[in-house]
Amino acid sequence: MRPLLDQLISLQDIDSELIKLRSIRGDLPQQVKRLQDELSEIEEKLNTQEQKLLLFKKEQDITKLEIKALEGKQQKYQSQLFEVKNNREYDAVTMEIENVKENVDQKEERLLELMDLDQELQKSIEEIKTELTEKKGQAKTKDGQLNSLLKKTEAEEKTLEEKRNKLVALFQPRMISTYNRILKAKNGMAVVPIVRNCCCGGCYKSLPPQRVMEIRDMEQLILCENCGRIIVWDEEKASKMDDAD
Ligand SMILES: [Zn+2]
Repeated sequence: MRPLLDQLISLQDIDSELIKLRSIRGDLPQQVKRLQDELSEIEEKLNTQEQKLLLFKKEQDITKLEIKALEGKQQKYQSQLFEVKNNREYDAVTMEIENVKENVDQKEERLLELMDLDQELQKSIEEIKTELTEKKGQAKTKDGQLNSLLKKTEAEEKTLEEKRNKLVALFQPRMISTYNRILKAKNGMAVVPIVRNCCCGGCYKSLPPQRVMEIRDMEQLILCENCGRIIVWDEEKASKMDDAD
């Protein structure tokens, strides 16, 4: 058991180093991810607004053509007025002219509305573009920060990961999964030494003397009954922890 427990201590050492290295990045990776999500959202919004603007422009063009056609029609009726032979015909043509005029009025009203919408939309598009430029700048900065941090720790991390993989291969898978579970649940600290010759170095609860002796023998895997961490005899680490107190 002893070599295995010693290897567990080494594994914990590697994991503590890895955790320390990764903690340098803080929440930068999440920040970068968040900014990228925001960027795609803004780009999508911009795209939607630009499509809308295209539709407005198209409708404006069509409406202008329609007005032109109606005006042509009106001129035609206007000249027909000179050719009418009786009052009935005169009334009929006049009514057509009125209809056309009304139609032109409606189209012109819509055209003004469209021009207003067009302007509003252009303004909003400009605002979105400004927002996009700002966000792009922020994303670029954060990305650069993250990359330079990654570059700094990359080699060291790789070495540690290789060491870890070699070490892990020496254990029974069940033991590694127990270790990993504790590591995850206990904030990256799965293996702890006895401190002050009496207590769990994870939760500082005092242990029965019999337990302390068993742990000192390093012959079996013993978990703290209080916090669930693996307790080992490691004087060097224990004294460091005592000093830190
Ligand atoms: Zn404990």
